[in-house]
Amino acid sequence: MVPKLLVSTRNAHKLREITAIMEPLGVELVSLNAFPDAPEVDEDRPSLEGNAAKKAEQLHVFTGLPTLADDTGLEVMALEGAPGVRSARFAGEDADDAANRTLLLERLRDADDRRAQFRTVIALTNSEGTRLFEGICAGTIIQNERGDGGFGYDPIFQPDGQDRTFAEMPADAKNRISHRGRALQAFAEKFEASWLQHSMDGDTV
Ligand code: IMP
Repeated sequence: MVPKLLVSTRNAHKLREITAIMEPLGVELVSLNAFPDAPEVDEDRPSLEGNAAKKAEQLHVFTGLPTLADDTGLEVMALEGAPGVRSARFAGEDADDAANRTLLLERLRDADDRRAQFRTVIALTNSEGTRLFEGICAGTIIQNERGDGGFGYDPIFQPDGQDRTFAEMPADAKNRISHRGRALQAFAEKFEASWLQHSMDGDTV
């Protein structure tokens, strides 16, 4: 039987990206759409590691399946790592992407050091515990938005060694060098099929 892995997202884009990397490993991915009653996990931990692990652990308990969860933040050097774990809510609890970008550009208006990195942490939980994997993409926060692809902070983030922002790149070019792509690669490189044989009750799923 093909082993199953729950990916704790309802985001079709994320699921496609993860499927492309995991399918060659002979894993069947299941999304949260298969569990309409799954609880909304409150991402209230002070670190990306804490939030990713919390999501993976709670959903593993709920579904009994080995579960993968991710959390991402944009860490800006001149802001000592902010917005980091608060990236989605930088300009307030209900802030949208545009408001978050505007606030970040405002905070960096007089900054000489515009270095930043996206960091993704992936947590995998099975009945034996939780493993963490990391992916980083370093770059610069530019002065004015460029491009209309992607989402979040993409129009103001230019990865090192590139002359385009993430928002100016086709999705496959971004995925090859992105924080999330790299975290998934780190996960896939160390992946062992036996990780999926440990579900809640210890049975092969
Ligand atoms: P999440 O953990 O993937 O939900 O990401 C949290 C927040 O980080 C998002 O709401 C975005 O603001 C930002 N973010 C995550 N990934 C990206 C990306 O690839 N490009 C731009 N912003 C991102």
